[in-house]
Amino acid sequence: MMDTNTALGIAACVLISIATACSDDHKNTQRLSNGGDLQSNSKTLPMHYYEEFDPVNQNGSELLSRRKRSGLYGFYDFQHYPFYEEIEAYLKNLAHLNNDVEFFTIGKSYEGRDIMAIKISNGASGNPILFIDGGIHGREWVSPTSALYAIQQFIVDRMKYRWLYNIDIVVVPLLNPDGYEYSRTHDRMWRKNRSWNRYTGCMGVHLNRNFDIDWNHSSQVRDPCKETYAGPAAFSEPETQALRDYFNAHGSRIKVHVTIHSPITAIMYPWGIAGYRLPWNQNILECLAGNAASAVKSKSKSDYRVGSVREILKKISAGSSIDWTMIHEGAKTSFALELPGKYPNGEYNFQPAERYIVYIGEQAYAMLKVFAKFTQTEECHNTKNHYPKQKPRVNPIIHKTQNTGDITWDWLKMKFQG
Ligand SMILES: [Zn+2]
Repeated sequence: MMDTNTALGIAACVLISIATACSDDHKNTQRLSNGGDLQSNSKTLPMHYYEEFDPVNQNGSELLSRRKRSGLYGFYDFQHYPFYEEIEAYLKNLAHLNNDVEFFTIGKSYEGRDIMAIKISNGASGNPILFIDGGIHGREWVSPTSALYAIQQFIVDRMKYRWLYNIDIVVVPLLNPDGYEYSRTHDRMWRKNRSWNRYTGCMGVHLNRNFDIDWNHSSQVRDPCKETYAGPAAFSEPETQALRDYFNAHGSRIKVHVTIHSPITAIMYPWGIAGYRLPWNQNILECLAGNAASAVKSKSKSDYRVGSVREILKKISAGSSIDWTMIHEGAKTSFALELPGKYPNGEYNFQPAERYIVYIGEQAYAMLKVFAKFTQTEECHNTKNHYPKQKPRVNPIIHKTQNTGDITWDWLKMKFQG
């Protein structure tokens, strides 16, 4: 635990660092220092921001010149989508500047990149953990930027909110660095990781189908050349292994697991798997997701839908991280945040204009603060739910699945009822 003077000094240091990085953009400096106030931005940005598209990102040379401008000196300005090296420099710099921030890695990607992580902690052992990961899908660029934005805001807000001192916040902003870099340099819509399939020559596994929970459940995930490929075995990929190993080591302390995606504008919770029953903790999941949606809605006009993965996506998504972490590793609750993005014609847009990186990051942060509070209190009381209300939820029986390896449906049903 640090004393107040140290804390304030470090806060100032963070803010000064950010201000230095953004000195050519006064407005941005103000935004970054305002503690995540969505309202202040919503006055200056059109509410249909996610319908905008910034073609400058399609141009590689633009990207390179931006990289030089913002530099690899450890200050990410949230005004462009960063390269892996920029993310690395930024995270290391935050850890360097703040006593309570630790940079570490949870493993290496298929191509050998570090899977980087940040822990914000007072150092006490046994603190409850809020675990956040971003960038499991390469093309969803506002996911890692929002995770980075949340790291910064949590560091700043710890100076204001004492309760944030009593939890550990662990963030893996880029779980799939190979897929992300590939989507930046070769194929904008690349989603999988970059592992090589020796039988087909095709590349990549859909990492969010590779977890050992009803893995490989349908024929649609068995073709290595498709973007839905679940991999040759559950946990065949180094990226999912890294997450698994972290949860194996710390699962009992993790009160909330949040994985950040885009661009559906929804807050989803288990189950993605087929099954009979709602989760045993359905009330808590619904309460927290509702409060998170309200937290955004009270400060912006964005309507996040709330529901189970099956409900929102209207299909089975087996082998996903949030189902696995909640069932297997004792994460008390788990959520997938789907950040916004749409073209005017209604199609999904994986690349909101760069001037909305902060705005979307603030939406993510407003939701993550709700989850942080639960990490500390383990209680959820419904705030005014002004998110769009849906019909009472009854998960339909979609199909009967068989034994899933080390867990069976009997075991699962027991868990559902318990
Ligand atoms: Zn995704």
